[in-house]
Amino acid sequence: MNRRTFTKSLAVTATALGLRTPLLARPPAPQFSITMDDFHWQNPTKLSASERNDAILNSLQSHSIKAALFVIGRNIEAPEGKQLISTWDKAGHLIGNHTYSHRNYNASAAVAEYQQDILRAEALLKDFPRFRKYFRFPLLKEGDTATKRDVMRSFLAQHGYRTGHVTIDNSDWAIDNRLTARLKKDAAADVKPYRDFYMEHMWTRAEYYDSLARRVLGRPVKHTVLVHFNLLNGLFLGDLIEMFKSKGWQPIDAEDAFADPVFSAKPKVVPAGESIVWSLAKENGTIAKTLRYPAEDGEYENARMDKLGL
Ligand SMILES: [Zn+2]
Repeated sequence: MNRRTFTKSLAVTATALGLRTPLLARPPAPQFSITMDDFHWQNPTKLSASERNDAILNSLQSHSIKAALFVIGRNIEAPEGKQLISTWDKAGHLIGNHTYSHRNYNASAAVAEYQQDILRAEALLKDFPRFRKYFRFPLLKEGDTATKRDVMRSFLAQHGYRTGHVTIDNSDWAIDNRLTARLKKDAAADVKPYRDFYMEHMWTRAEYYDSLARRVLGRPVKHTVLVHFNLLNGLFLGDLIEMFKSKGWQPIDAEDAFADPVFSAKPKVVPAGESIVWSLAKENGTIAKTLRYPAEDGEYENARMDKLGL
C-alpha cells in the first residue's frame, strides 16, 4: 500500500469510527495569550506614559485579544496611574494582583508582612470591574522553603486567589534596559536591532517552553506569555503578536488561557516558582536534570547583547 492509499484508508477508517478529525490531521496550532506585568509608567523615554499605554492597548486591540495586566499596587496610587489603568479596565482586559511593592518572596523573611502587601494591592484594585483574583508572584518567586511555599498557597486559597502563572518565561526586561539606556544617550538611535533581538529571544523561549510542556504533560498547554509594561513593548508588542501568528500560533484571551488545568497544578518543588511548565518539569526526575536555575535571567542574554553592541 503506498502512502497516499494508506492515508486515504486511515481517513475512511476514522470516518467509519465516527471520528470527526482524520487520524493524520495536523496537530492543532499552539495557543498563546499576553500577560503583562508591573505597570511601570513613570519612566518615560521616547514615548510618554500615555503614548506607551495607548501603543500597547492598540496592539492588543488590533489583534482583538484581551490580555491580563498584573499591577503593582503602588503604581496606581497617583491619579495619573489610576487614570491609565482605568483605560485597561474599560477595554476589557483582566486586571490581576502583583503585590503593592514588588518584593521577592524568596528573599522575604516576614511572611505575614508579605501577605499584607498582597492585601494592600487588592484594596487599590478591587473596585475595577475587570479585577479578578489572580495573583502573580514578583519575579515568579513562590518561596524558597517548603513551609513558605505552602503557607502562601493556603493564604491565597483562603482569600479566593488563583496563581496567575506564566508558561513562557523570558527576559524582555533585560532587552528593555539596554534599549532605554541607549535612547537616553542618543534619542535618534536605531531601535531595529533591539526589535530583532527581542523577536528572536521570544521565539526561542516560546519553542523551549512549548516543547517542555509537551514532554512533561504529554499535551500542549494554553500559553501565558510574560511581557512587561515597558518601552520595548510600547514599540514592539504588535510585532511580537504578529510574529507568533506568522509561526502558526493562535492568539487567545488571557482568561481563556487560565482555564487550562495546568494552572491549577501545585508542584512540590523548592525553590518554588518560575514558569509553571518549568516547575512541573522540575518534579520530573529525568527532565529536571536538563533545567537551569534561575530558569530565565538577563545574565543569560547579556553576553550576546554585548556582542551585538546592544
Ligand atoms: Zn513584576
